[in-house]
Amino acid sequence: MRFCRFLFNDQPHFGLVESIAGREMITRVFQSRAEDVIPDEDAPSKKIAALGLAEVRLLAPTRPSKILCVGRNYREHPKELGHAIPTEVGTFLKPPSAIIGPGENIRRPALTQRLEHEGELGVIVGQSCRQLREDEDVRAYILGYTCVNDVTARDLQRKDMQWTRAKGFDTFCPVGPVVTDEIDPWAGVLVETRVNGELRQHGTTTDFLFPLDAIIRHIAEFMTLLPGDLIATGTPEGVGPLVAGDVVEVSVEGVGTLRNPVVDD
Ligand code: MG
Repeated sequence: MRFCRFLFNDQPHFGLVESIAGREMITRVFQSRAEDVIPDEDAPSKKIAALGLAEVRLLAPTRPSKILCVGRNYREHPKELGHAIPTEVGTFLKPPSAIIGPGENIRRPALTQRLEHEGELGVIVGQSCRQLREDEDVRAYILGYTCVNDVTARDLQRKDMQWTRAKGFDTFCPVGPVVTDEIDPWAGVLVETRVNGELRQHGTTTDFLFPLDAIIRHIAEFMTLLPGDLIATGTPEGVGPLVAGDVVEVSVEGVGTLRNPVVDD
């Protein structure tokens, strides 16, 4: 299934996304309750006159209780920051208040002189998940995949003992445009970031140091993952600066492109 969340009759709705004549169209809306964080596939859905993704106001496609981020998961990215290649999954949290949807402004705080993009594959959790058995298939807990930009104040990340501030400002977690279960990161999907159209980051999930199994198993050892929770799976090499006026695009093959302008706060 491919879905988005969007404003329909001025209210947030989850919408089913289908390809019609090569265009991505919203064809049904789920009759979800306001508190739903992901679409309820068992709830009735209503067919609507097809709307192009570009014709609607898209919202972030999930409302997670938490955002787990993997610190270093591609071989070349730790090198460019002068870090050793990790031997164990390392995670940190971003607050849900950092989330914005496609097209919304990333606001550069006056507190940072070095705002950077980190384009990443996002995983949306589909069902509650805690302390997995060694032989358990993690795919059963994955609702789908999306694009995430783990926006970072690099100077504050270097300066602060914890990354809460560097990673946690409002607007530092663009997510979207859709969620899909129709890709297979184990087989390899491209993750790319462009700034003003210029390619900055290019990686493939087959270069993960830790596959999704290891990441989800690691998190579920210490924290219950809930439906709608978002896991940002780490960024390839090529992180770089963002300034006001830039437009940053994170593309995940088979998902689409998440586009956000940058402004000064
Ligand atoms: Mg990151």
